[in-house]
Amino acid sequence: MINDKKRIKSQEIFNQLVLNAIDFLEHSVSEIEKNPKYSIINFCTAVELFLKSRLMLEHWSLIFNDPKQANLDKFLQGNFTSVGMEGAIKRLNKIPDLKFDDNAEKNFNTIRKHRNQLVHFFNATELEIVATEECKGWFYLSQLLREKWKDDFLEYVDDIDKLDKLMLNVRRYLQAKFNALLPEIEIKKKQGISFNTCPSCGFDSSENKVIAEISQFSDYLLSPDCLVCNFEAGKELIVSCPNCENGQIKVQELGKGECESCEYSINLDYLLDKYAESKHIEKGLFENNRAYCNSCEHFKQPTVVPYENIWLCLSCLKSYDYNQVGNCEFCGELVSGNLDDSFLSGCLMCEGMAGYYRDKDD
Ligand SMILES: [Zn+2]
Ligand SMILES: [Zn+2]
Ligand SMILES: [Zn+2]
Ligand SMILES: [Zn+2]
Repeated sequence: MINDKKRIKSQEIFNQLVLNAIDFLEHSVSEIEKNPKYSIINFCTAVELFLKSRLMLEHWSLIFNDPKQANLDKFLQGNFTSVGMEGAIKRLNKIPDLKFDDNAEKNFNTIRKHRNQLVHFFNATELEIVATEECKGWFYLSQLLREKWKDDFLEYVDDIDKLDKLMLNVRRYLQAKFNALLPEIEIKKKQGISFNTCPSCGFDSSENKVIAEISQFSDYLLSPDCLVCNFEAGKELIVSCPNCENGQIKVQELGKGECESCEYSINLDYLLDKYAESKHIEKGLFENNRAYCNSCEHFKQPTVVPYENIWLCLSCLKSYDYNQVGNCEFCGELVSGNLDDSFLSGCLMCEGMAGYYRDKDD
């Protein structure tokens, strides 16, 4: 009986959060031209409510600002201080299945800081900046609602589709910026740089930047960056086909890709061998040029290899500066990430000295 009541009430609170989020988002779009300040404030509230609603599905106590004070009666009465956007983002990121990517987090935090500035100081803001942040914000939010968290928001599929159409209107406030950039884009195209349609703002302004290349193999790493809205689309590793002449294979994640000319496919093991030369050198050296990735946490094998002057994870394509990879001071594994306290706190492969003593005490 109590459980039933709790379940029904939880669902009701979830629905209210989502409906409210939709309402704020609609207001945000309708206000953008006349009042960009209120548009971004409402947009931010909408993002916050969507994040909270998903957090609440995980466990109702997680939307309390202080989960230790969480109390079912207070929750059921709606009588509590709820977690803020920053806290909600942190909590979601601690749950492996809900964790979102770094760029989404960065964008949500930019919007949050912008909102705070506008709420606390009497400032005006520019329509173009607001449109840029909202286009990117919607790209990341809709990706969560329509893909990653799809099953949780099934009931709202139609509403989310409607919001998507509405949000497309925001792109037109970036048309003038795109027009101004056209001459620059034309010059770059003549220099051989290619452009794609930006998934965030929709203009053909996403520059395919080469950030590292291994000329010996004619392979390179592309990082698309939009000149209009600065949206950074996912990286692509371009690999020359081992099966045909001039064929190219685009790899986006997990080392998987297929040749555009002959359909030959490659995998992670192929790429690891190609760049980290396991076949040609003895074991000691081999271990020194493959590190475990602390970003995608691919524990099965070390996937980070030297790539020109950076380290590159062949599984998630995250790149690291040369000094961001090293041996853990406790277990000695080669890993990526900050290893300053690794003797005490360990790395992604071990729990460090602290873990060693904790296990001993048990
Ligand atoms: Zn863009
Ligand atoms: Zn081929
Ligand atoms: Zn990785
Ligand atoms: Zn370690």
